[in-house]
Amino acid sequence: MSTETAAPPMIKATAVNKYFGDLHVLKDIDFEVPRGQVVVVLGPSGSGKSTLCRAINRLEPINSGQIEVDGKPLPAEGKALAALRADVGMVFQQFNLFAHKTILENVTLGPTKVRRASAAEARTLAMELLERVGIANQAEKYPAQLSGGQQQRAAIARALAMKPKVMLFDEPTSALDPEMVQEVLDTMTSLADEGMTMLVVTHEMGFARRAAHRVIFMSDGEIVEDTNPNDFFTDPKSERAKDFLGKIL
Ligand code: ADP
Ligand code: MG
Repeated sequence: MSTETAAPPMIKATAVNKYFGDLHVLKDIDFEVPRGQVVVVLGPSGSGKSTLCRAINRLEPINSGQIEVDGKPLPAEGKALAALRADVGMVFQQFNLFAHKTILENVTLGPTKVRRASAAEARTLAMELLERVGIANQAEKYPAQLSGGQQQRAAIARALAMKPKVMLFDEPTSALDPEMVQEVLDTMTSLADEGMTMLVVTHEMGFARRAAHRVIFMSDGEIVEDTNPNDFFTDPKSERAKDFLGKIL
């Protein structure tokens, strides 16, 4: 028998509860994201998807339960929290780039400040990443000079510059003009193909069908289904999922 213990899941949530005042927004949430898996989170507006993402990054504290990233409980503060935020890359609906910094500076900032890379190292890595997301020729521009799709790809490059263990995406294409959605989804699909562990909140069902290893369906603060995409789309078990799919497909 091997003495090695299996690597823990990248994300593990156990009995997580979260309230905003009296509002119970995460109800006994249990799930895992194994290494290398792409898990897509679906569900109606207000079901708690963003709160769940934010809890994993400890942007929102939880009231009870436990969240572990790479086998370690979330740190509360200090350097350990900064390290967690570097390990867990997050891409939001709004691109959240620094408006007064160039695209290149946006991508080099984290590595130099948090990962303590030299300016030269950070620049080399940033240019590689901007190349990878297809906007190396925009490096010296400011965010406002880029299209929404280019800004979102810059935000992805910025998160990747921290060499994260896992990437969280919270409706990354919802604020984009329709013609720019695909370029961002393509960037995400290639990340997934490279084996990145990803938790993706999206309404893009095409992406969910093609890229997801698993689908989690949330409604009203609960995980109602946690299954493979094919079963979810062809044979949803719950009335709530049937209703949801009926409205969007
Ligand atoms: P989703 O991302 O699925 O649309 P959210 O996680 O944003 O859902 O919200 C879940 C519930 O929590 C909603 O009822 C929302 O109004 C509420 N909520 C979210 N953020 C806050 C907050 N900061 N304060 C109070 N209520 C909030
Ligand atoms: Mg949301």
